[in-house]
Amino acid sequence: MIVVLLGPPGAGKGTQAQKIEKTQGLVQLSTGDMLRAAVTEGSKVGKKAKDFMEAGKLVTDEIVVKIIENRIQKVDCKNGFLLDGFPRTLTQAKALDNMLNQKSLKLNAVVEMQVDDEALVDRIIGRYTCTACNQGYHGENLKPKVDGVCDNCGSTNFKRRVDDNRETVSSRLEAYHSQTAPLLPYYKEQGVLRVVNGMVDIGDVSVQINDVLSSLN
Ligand code: AMP
Repeated sequence: MIVVLLGPPGAGKGTQAQKIEKTQGLVQLSTGDMLRAAVTEGSKVGKKAKDFMEAGKLVTDEIVVKIIENRIQKVDCKNGFLLDGFPRTLTQAKALDNMLNQKSLKLNAVVEMQVDDEALVDRIIGRYTCTACNQGYHGENLKPKVDGVCDNCGSTNFKRRVDDNRETVSSRLEAYHSQTAPLLPYYKEQGVLRVVNGMVDIGDVSVQINDVLSSLN
């Protein structure tokens, strides 16, 4: 099964993708995570991407398309994958269609997580992740069961993203509305768009997404 999670920054794509990865065994491919890893490594791609990311702008299509092209060749993608944060432009969406066509694969669903812009800022400012396993948390809505200890791996080290600040959030939202939202009619036309309400509890969002995924089996 090949599924895209689509939604503005802070909609909960990463949180839901981590859950789906565990429950459905679909590997999560997050271009944001891959780019952050490249920036930390200081690789050529990381050096090119860093300034765009810190300014809340999209990295070039060429860079992210190549990353995904290489990643989906890996053996863990054999039984399908869940794209989190890709595609984000029409050029990327068309490149994905081509990649899948070449492998005689098809996109099963694009799940749009709808969240009001006003809710996104608080969600983004409050979020942090475990340094060791990347499990996501939030200062208000999703705390670890034991304060300061990761539920998933027991680590006590956490980090916040450099682009999760008020200044950058508005350009990330702007990028979503101008460059990514045009994918909604594109996928609606293809008949693969499914919409979930991302304003409810994390568990209730998961229920809606699981319903969509089960309807595809
Ligand atoms: P994310 O973790 O998905 O919020 O992505 C963080 C940042 O990485 C974005 O603000 C962009 O700068 C960059 N990025 C991630 N995915 C893409 C993509 N598909 N196209 C362009 N830039 C991306």
